[in-house]
Amino acid sequence: MELFSTGDASDIVSFSEAALRGSGAGGGLYMPTSIPRLKDVQALLALPFVERSKSLCRQWIGDEFSEGEIDEIITSAFTFPIPMVDLGGGLHICELFHGPTLAFKDFGARFMAQVLGVLAKRQGERRPITILTATSGDTGAAVAHAFYKVPGVSVCVLYPKGRISPLQERLFTTLGENVTTFAVEGNFDDCQRMVKACFADETLSRGFGLTSANSINMARLLAQSFYYFEAASALQGRGEQLFAVPSGNFGNMTAGLLATRMGLPIKGFVAATNANDVVPAFLRTGTYTPRPSVATLSNAMDVGSPSNFERIRALFGDDDTLRSAIKGEVVTDAQTRASMVALYEDHGYLACPHTAVGVAALKRRGGKGVVLATAHPAKFKEVVDETLGVDLPLPEALAKVADLTPGSHPLTSSPSALPEALRALMRS
Ligand SMILES: *Cc1c(COP(=O)(O)O)cnc(C)c1O
Repeated sequence: MELFSTGDASDIVSFSEAALRGSGAGGGLYMPTSIPRLKDVQALLALPFVERSKSLCRQWIGDEFSEGEIDEIITSAFTFPIPMVDLGGGLHICELFHGPTLAFKDFGARFMAQVLGVLAKRQGERRPITILTATSGDTGAAVAHAFYKVPGVSVCVLYPKGRISPLQERLFTTLGENVTTFAVEGNFDDCQRMVKACFADETLSRGFGLTSANSINMARLLAQSFYYFEAASALQGRGEQLFAVPSGNFGNMTAGLLATRMGLPIKGFVAATNANDVVPAFLRTGTYTPRPSVATLSNAMDVGSPSNFERIRALFGDDDTLRSAIKGEVVTDAQTRASMVALYEDHGYLACPHTAVGVAALKRRGGKGVVLATAHPAKFKEVVDETLGVDLPLPEALAKVADLTPGSHPLTSSPSALPEALRALMRS
């Protein structure tokens, strides 16, 4: 697989290099120079998820990874089910939150971790690999769990002390082994600034083999395209489906577009956002205006400048084609709560706020199709309990860590704090 940077088309790299680097030259993101076309989609849809994903994966990166390596990557990464819930009347919920950290980000993070694990093995001791990431909650948990005990890879996660939920904190600061977590005296922006400064420091960056694991990494997107095939497979015989995608950084949507470019037949996409509506506004008006994010109930989608938008633009080439291919819907917090209540009262279905945004958006477009359910409702227990008047039990993954003591290291937000902590970590 060959990729180019959307910031500098002369920056051409292999998939392995793109996975190790994260972002491309000129401040761009990597995109494939060509997309494999499937020869027999029906035969592929007939396969079980893991087998189908291996086959898809071979078509993308079979030139860089052996069949044995791909088998190992896929079977280690995808160890959990993808239930399709039929709510009647043509409305389906594709539950992507049955992984270890109860959000769909487990798919991309676990696939990326296995890919880097193979690359680390090949490189031996020559080039260390250190995942350095700042998190406001979901991403840190998915990444820490995915890379936990992957040989040859160290993980450092920064988060703002006291500003993530106690459960979120316990989910990724209690792992140990190759996962080191830092509770920063500051806010999320401070964490991001500290991480960026380390990436920009050539000596640190090379010395530690720093890599980011956020959604700009192509390895994460590739894996996410596989569950669109699973959804289509589960609904075979019921016609092509409209997909409602609860969106923030638009990685999930980009993955869906890649699946259709490979030849997956679907009816279309609805981009569902909360009040952070820069993409729906663009689809409506043709003008793209990023702006600071605003806080909403579906906080994992509070993004004012979606990083994957330029990938979507690059896929379509011109804005008019893009605007006719995707429908946008904006769902307010009040409408999100109403959607959660309706799902519960009409179907007994518990949805997290993000999934509820997707359902509200699909209903405006006729209500028939597939909503991608991005997080387990218990991950947003406060909002769900308060909106529905319930007391959600904690699922096993959360209950297990609820009483543990967070094992993070304190860190100030001074410019020298993180480099010093990294050096100390390498010496130990
Ligand atoms: C990250 C996230 C989203 C948004 O996904 P994007 O790929 O950034 O558009 C939606 N819901 C949940 C629960 C998330 O964690």
